[in-house]
Amino acid sequence: MAAKRDYYEVLGVPKNASDAEIKKAFRGLARQYHPDVNKSADAVEKFKEINEAYQVLSDSQKRAAYDQFGHAGIDPNAFAGGGFGGGFSGFGDIFGDIFSDFFGGGSSSQRRNGPRRGADLRYDLDISFEEAVFGCEKEITVQKSVACTTCAGSGAEPGTSRKQCPVCKGRGTVSISQGFFTIQQTCHQCQGEGEIIDKPCKTCSGTGRLKQSAKLKVKIPAGVETGQKLKLSGEGEAGEKGGPSGSLYIFITVGKHDFFDRVGDDIICEKDITFPLAALGGEIEVPTLKGVVKIKIPAGTQTGKTFRLRGYGVKSFRNGEGDQLVKIFVRTPTDLTAKQRELLKQLAEEDPESKATGIGSSKSFFDKVKQALGG
Ligand SMILES: [Zn+2]
Ligand SMILES: [Zn+2]
Repeated sequence: MAAKRDYYEVLGVPKNASDAEIKKAFRGLARQYHPDVNKSADAVEKFKEINEAYQVLSDSQKRAAYDQFGHAGIDPNAFAGGGFGGGFSGFGDIFGDIFSDFFGGGSSSQRRNGPRRGADLRYDLDISFEEAVFGCEKEITVQKSVACTTCAGSGAEPGTSRKQCPVCKGRGTVSISQGFFTIQQTCHQCQGEGEIIDKPCKTCSGTGRLKQSAKLKVKIPAGVETGQKLKLSGEGEAGEKGGPSGSLYIFITVGKHDFFDRVGDDIICEKDITFPLAALGGEIEVPTLKGVVKIKIPAGTQTGKTFRLRGYGVKSFRNGEGDQLVKIFVRTPTDLTAKQRELLKQLAEEDPESKATGIGSSKSFFDKVKQALGG
């Protein structure tokens, strides 16, 4: 199957087109490409494409899902097979029976009155570095459709119920004789559902669903990282006609920390130490997410040396425990006092290498090069 074209492009309308503009564009194109009128080879495909685009963009929920997720946000099954039979409300008033006949046959036996799963929702959640490391509980507010409480999702005024469609006797289709043929087509009374609502529920105008902002407590497990998503089954949009609700996907973004970095389950930090401490050895204090920890610095520690604090990393939901890695930077002293300068000079004089060349360990480096060249 070829890549799908953008629905707005198909209808030739801007992304912010109003419902009326979309409807107008659709009607114009539908007239132009209706296979009864347009005999070009690709008219049927084109016609289907126009209709599919209209089905999505004329439904505020589907349009919102499409705007957010593109074609992936639209249930592909919605258009498969018999899907055409039911979703054609927009066509009914333009072409009436002609259109139903056109796609008749295969799809007319399909009815759309089965339960339908609700749409999935996305929520973007920012959490702090610490919240990601330790896990947390967040309260979020999600706009979603829920089953109408007045009619329990049936769409019928309480005390009344859906009843069998008197036109099609619940079949969803009607048979019409045209000359020698008998053609089955979608029932116009019930739009193929086989049932009609006698008295629509006043709260939800018969849709069975209401938009609501729902508060949810979400448990974020320790160890989550940016880009991961949590799936909350059943917290998406309410289903239709007893269908299950969709899922809510929480997309996680973890904030930066001033001192710590994270690689997987390990926490990384850098720590400056003074030149005398690096040379003589000693003890330093290092902040960790569990408080301050002391590390022994051995005499002669170089820049780049990394110490591992076992178990001070992320206690992840995936596996065990990470570590904290402390990378040492030996600070070269600046802004020396006269006394410090004098002491360093004395130190330099005590160093046999700097005494001989004045450039410290470079001498041994040149020696090695000479040796390597056989000099
Ligand atoms: Zn209701
Ligand atoms: Zn009917």
